[in-house]
Amino acid sequence: ALTAGIVGLPNVGKSTLFNAITQAGAVSANYPFATIDPNVGIVEVPDARLQKLTALVNPKKTTPTAFEFTDIAGIVEGASKGEGLGNQFLSHIRQVDAICHVVRAFEDDEVTHVSGRVDPISDIETINLELILADLETINKRLDRVEKMARQKDKEALAEKDVLTRLKEALESEQPARALELSKEEEKYRKGLHLLTAKPILYVANVAEDEIGEAENENVKRIREFAKKEDAEVITICAKIESEIAELEGEERAEFLEDLGIAEAGLDQLIKATYNLLGLATYFTAGEEEVRAWTFRKGMTAPQAAGIIHTDFEKGFIKAETVSYEDLIEGGSMAKAKENGKVRLEGKEYIVKDGDVIHFRFNV
Ligand code: GDP
Repeated sequence: ALTAGIVGLPNVGKSTLFNAITQAGAVSANYPFATIDPNVGIVEVPDARLQKLTALVNPKKTTPTAFEFTDIAGIVEGASKGEGLGNQFLSHIRQVDAICHVVRAFEDDEVTHVSGRVDPISDIETINLELILADLETINKRLDRVEKMARQKDKEALAEKDVLTRLKEALESEQPARALELSKEEEKYRKGLHLLTAKPILYVANVAEDEIGEAENENVKRIREFAKKEDAEVITICAKIESEIAELEGEERAEFLEDLGIAEAGLDQLIKATYNLLGLATYFTAGEEEVRAWTFRKGMTAPQAAGIIHTDFEKGFIKAETVSYEDLIEGGSMAKAKENGKVRLEGKEYIVKDGDVIHFRFNV
């Protein structure tokens, strides 16, 4: 399963946020993919469509889909020098598929800042620098080998050398590898390197309790400006409040959010944005027994998506009876959607879309 790693300097609110995640989180027993690792928190993906489908189908049970956040431990500064805990930090980042970078945007004299003052951009750059240095090392190693092959006029090696050189130049001017524009052909070389700064990223601005629902402070504005250059998203939260929200449910929760003057918990926004960042999307199954959301990777074909439910569904795949969520809701029932001609029989080549409601037909 794909996972997003939570990173940040010490004392920015990572643990507080991660606690909110595990508080709000689903029990791993419901999700067979889930690892039983204290550094991994499972979150259910908030999705209003699931409630609407439940109201329409009236099933015995409704099951949301879920994915994982990993709390990345270890020491940041000097990590690329490869000593002990710093090394661990890098190897943990290597294992995640996207990065949620928590940045301190709250002022609080009681909470020490590692560098003595709150400066979000300098914080971001401190971590990014370690990742850039680690990537440079990866690239230089690869470049050594590829240069030897390129000397023999190996075409592939020449093409790769060109990409490596451009990546190196970008990193040396402190640009992340993800920022370099590459053709589809060239992209495979970047992918093969598993660079840390090529992983998709979003920034989490951790603001003070009394700033929730208020105008953004200067720190958040600066983070936004920085993120814009990377095309990265910024989610504003107050980690402390999120852990309080996470303890509430239903009515109580709604009232609390209303008091705060916000429509949606910051954590829910973060979950959705991260899900998207990981390239994940949701399809539904809607039967009388169960209405359920399933996570798939964008670009998956119908048999691959079926395989997420059960490998037999993939092996024996015949057709996917598919209707979009909107068409189903508009029709008001599956029968009506069929009458309207909105239910399609899709074959093996069909690329599943977010919001598809699917009934798989398969051979056993
Ligand atoms: P970590 O080292 O990044 O994991 O940071 P922690 O989550 O342990 O938080 C460090 C300190 O900052 C703790 O004392 C937290 O209570 C405090 N803290 C975290 N988030 C907030 C916040 O949103 N507002 C305020 N005022 N304090 C916070």
